[in-house]
Amino acid sequence: MPTSLAQLNTFGLQQYCSSLVRVSSKVKLIDTCAHLYLKQMPMLIVGGGSNLVFTSDYQGTVVNIATKGIKVTTDTDYYYVNVQAGENWHELVEFCLANQINGLENMALIPGTVGAAPIQNIGAYGVEFNRFCHEIEFLRLDTNELQVFSNQQCHFSYRESIFKQELKNLVVVTEVTLKLPKQWQPVLDYGPLQHMDPLTVTAKQIFDCVCQVRQSKLPDPKVLGNVGSFFKNPIVEASKFIELKDQFPTMVAYEQVDGQYKLAAGWLIEQAGLKGTRIGGAAVHQDQALVLVNVGQASGEQVCLLARHIIEVVFNKFTVTLQAEPRIMGPDGEIDINE
Ligand SMILES: Cc1cc2nc3c(=O)[nH]c(=O)nc-3n(C[C@H](O)[C@H](O)[C@H](O)COP(=O)(O)OP(=O)(O)OC[C@H]3O[C@@H](n4cnc5c(N)ncnc54)[C@H](O)[C@@H]3O)c2cc1C
Repeated sequence: MPTSLAQLNTFGLQQYCSSLVRVSSKVKLIDTCAHLYLKQMPMLIVGGGSNLVFTSDYQGTVVNIATKGIKVTTDTDYYYVNVQAGENWHELVEFCLANQINGLENMALIPGTVGAAPIQNIGAYGVEFNRFCHEIEFLRLDTNELQVFSNQQCHFSYRESIFKQELKNLVVVTEVTLKLPKQWQPVLDYGPLQHMDPLTVTAKQIFDCVCQVRQSKLPDPKVLGNVGSFFKNPIVEASKFIELKDQFPTMVAYEQVDGQYKLAAGWLIEQAGLKGTRIGGAAVHQDQALVLVNVGQASGEQVCLLARHIIEVVFNKFTVTLQAEPRIMGPDGEIDINE
């Protein structure tokens, strides 16, 4: 039966899917996905819908993951936190803090589920998921096998993993195991955290600071639909950065370990004069240029039109190509934003 996806995407897009199954046990999740794949029925896994833009109704079954469970084991040096895919990411961060398991605090308040975290290797305030990922368990749809990948096998990089590349659409993440050292080291390289004292700071103080900054900076999707950062921060060669810095001396960028530079996409969009730009119900947020918002009845098409306009204007000014971070969905599956 056609079912509304309005509550299953944080942009609040009014689209439908042909049918919706909500699964709260791992066995049911595996059975449901294996069956749909075997019958060649199109399916889309959705956790919290905080990284998806629907441009039309989805002609297939949406499988909404709601599996729950957290188990902690330890050895001399580490905590191992095994989590079912449907657990809420922020609640996991809170659970860990409450149990003196530190490390995830910089990634507080990232919306969505634990199972989606490895897909784009979520990250914030200098810490990425792969820093603490031990193993990912998943159903491999084409072989109908339950497999476990180590951190290395996931090929994590900035907002990337094997699950968005070679194994795209072939995997349903069922469980995630994190490995967090008992000897905690704060990460204070970014933004407001830089003012904290590494010798005295606690994980709870970092958590509180990150929550406070995020709540003051990012629009709440329940009030103003959005998917967080709409574009990845582009990474350029050092020579290109030097060229740009000559032309635009205030350009914001972060040097990477490999000598490349990560440019602040929000800065590029703001400097291109695009803050507040609107197409239909889709707009560039007035304060956060990196966030596109639903100011009322936006369609996915309008969101993509606006995103393409931003990509073009930014390229014309800086010769840098922005890439969309969320996954753009057409009627039959993922599409390129330029389609
Ligand atoms: C306000 C806001 C702030 C944000 N801030 C950040 C941030 O700081 N850092 C960051 O990295 N991201 C951020 N995001 C993006 C988003 O929170 C993450 O991408 C998150 O991991 C998405 O989780 P989800 O459960 O909502 O995934 P969904 O949107 O439901 O799915 C995203 C993709 O993953 C796939 N998927 C989901 N679960 C599974 C599974 N179990 N197995 C296989 N495939 C699966 C889906 O099919 C889809 O392709 C933000 C989003 C919002 C709305």
